Amino acid sequence: MPLISTPAIVLSALRYGETSKIVRLATRDHGVQSAIAKGAYRPKSRFGAALQVLSGGQAHLLLSERRDLHTLTGFDVATLPLSLTSEVPRYATATALAEVMLRVAPAEPHPDAYDVLEEALAVLTDAPTEVLPSLSLKLLWRMVGALGFAPALDRCARDGRPIEPGDIAFSAPEGGALCRQCARSMETTTLPADAREALSQLTSREGTLPPLDSRHAAAHRRLLARYIRYHLAEGATLPALEFWQLRAWDPA
Ligand SMILES: [Zn+2]
Repeated sequence: MPLISTPAIVLSALRYGETSKIVRLATRDHGVQSAIAKGAYRPKSRFGAALQVLSGGQAHLLLSERRDLHTLTGFDVATLPLSLTSEVPRYATATALAEVMLRVAPAEPHPDAYDVLEEALAVLTDAPTEVLPSLSLKLLWRMVGALGFAPALDRCARDGRPIEPGDIAFSAPEGGALCRQCARSMETTTLPADAREALSQLTSREGTLPPLDSRHAAAHRRLLARYIRYHLAEGATLPALEFWQLRAWDPA
């Protein structure tokens, strides 16, 4: 069985038996993989407290050829999620990102999505509180884009016709804006020009963040959550995303 070593982020961790843990890892070089960390709950385990959800580091894996479950022989932890837990919206965004990654769970290498997740966790750790509403939208849209589902905004998602300036008709199921002809026969959400501009900033590669008051931020979260449910969830529930969308921003 080959032994490999790869940068990895823990997406989920479950107790298995008396002393072991099964983790799902986003790895940079081998996609999302499941592995058993034997003895992780023993008092003197070599894993210590490293294997928490959202921990990052170098994973050493003994690959199993017959089964989907590999063996984690070591995890050199580089980042722990402690400072992410300082505020609910910060942690909720991080867990929603991990959930989307886990949901799509490419078993083939997907370094773009891995890099987006790793960078997003670092950015979230240091971001000032006041930018979190727009930053969290930007990071989740970036993950959606890295996984290959960026929305169409300048051209009709159905037929590629250019979209005129001003308000747009947006359809989550169709994957973005629709031209006037297509919008006539579909159910769409109208985005006024300022919301369209904000969405365009949120989905662009540029670092700019649109200023969003709480009402507009909530509307953008609703739109993004609906978009993710259509394109990435395949009918599955996404509890971390639901929490991020609805409850994470309530004042304590
Ligand atoms: Zn069209």
